[in-house]
Amino acid sequence: MSVAIDTLLTSDINKPARYLGNELGAVHRPWSAATVRWVLTYPEIYEVGASNLGHIILYSILNTQPRQLCDRAYLPAADLAAKLKATQTPLFAVESQRPLTDFDILGFSLSYELGATNILEMLSLAGIPLTWQERSQPKNGAVERWPLIFAGGQTATSNPEPYADFFDFIALGDGEELLPEIGLVLEDGKAAGLSREALLLDLAQIPGVYVPRFYDMAEDGSVHPNRADVPQRILRRVATPIPAYAMGLVPYIETVHDRLTVEIRRGCTRGCRFCQPGMLTRPARDVEPDAVIEAIETGMAKTGYNEFSLLL
Ligand code: SF4
Repeated sequence: MSVAIDTLLTSDINKPARYLGNELGAVHRPWSAATVRWVLTYPEIYEVGASNLGHIILYSILNTQPRQLCDRAYLPAADLAAKLKATQTPLFAVESQRPLTDFDILGFSLSYELGATNILEMLSLAGIPLTWQERSQPKNGAVERWPLIFAGGQTATSNPEPYADFFDFIALGDGEELLPEIGLVLEDGKAAGLSREALLLDLAQIPGVYVPRFYDMAEDGSVHPNRADVPQRILRRVATPIPAYAMGLVPYIETVHDRLTVEIRRGCTRGCRFCQPGMLTRPARDVEPDAVIEAIETGMAKTGYNEFSLLL
């Protein structure tokens, strides 16, 4: 059931367009036609989150998958967060305006370390227990049905361990191919009525999915499986950038990157030791020049932007 957005977004809330979810380009797939319902969240306020290219690319890709639906959520600003708490209203996804607990799977982009506390704030506002241990605990004899909570992004990939207690799984590397594969396993698991544990065991077989509950950390900091039926090592996924998926939303309010953004390279050949794109996003991959030009021409026409930036 949707939250009462009309009573929340009153004149005391700054920039209500942050929470409307009806930007040009928003997909709005029908709720009842979907068998797997995702929310992708960028754990920052809307102006930052809606500018994040990875968030938009994955949102666009998931919404092209049959029988899947992808909505979005962002960290509410302090005024709305206070109002959500005061009125005991759960944090909601902006397009369907449904509580995050209505969804099957909730993905957080963890691109830098300080985003982690915002993730916990969002889980708390959504009324979702913070750790996978709490989410798996039986209450009154039954395990409650919580969405699967996962993280992806540079920080989650570079070292998931500091955040391992908070997530049911962590998606390592590029998500373009990985997330649709996760969606298919989830769809099958849901149809088969699998338990949370059994579903996570299936997900753990997908290259790039790290399920912390199936691994223990040794004293020297190395991580090892605690059961025989999960991979010894988890691969980091590598995908080819597809600029066409980046032509997403045109927000109603000014965002930090208020222009068309086109990715021309992922990773960097220089390989400076301190740099995540240089060290972690390997191999460096260039987008074909013709595909960049096509993305700019199509994107400018589709969005109405009169400015673009080229992203490395
Ligand atoms: S992007 Fe990173 S690896 Fe590439 S030149 Fe800049 S600092 Fe070095």
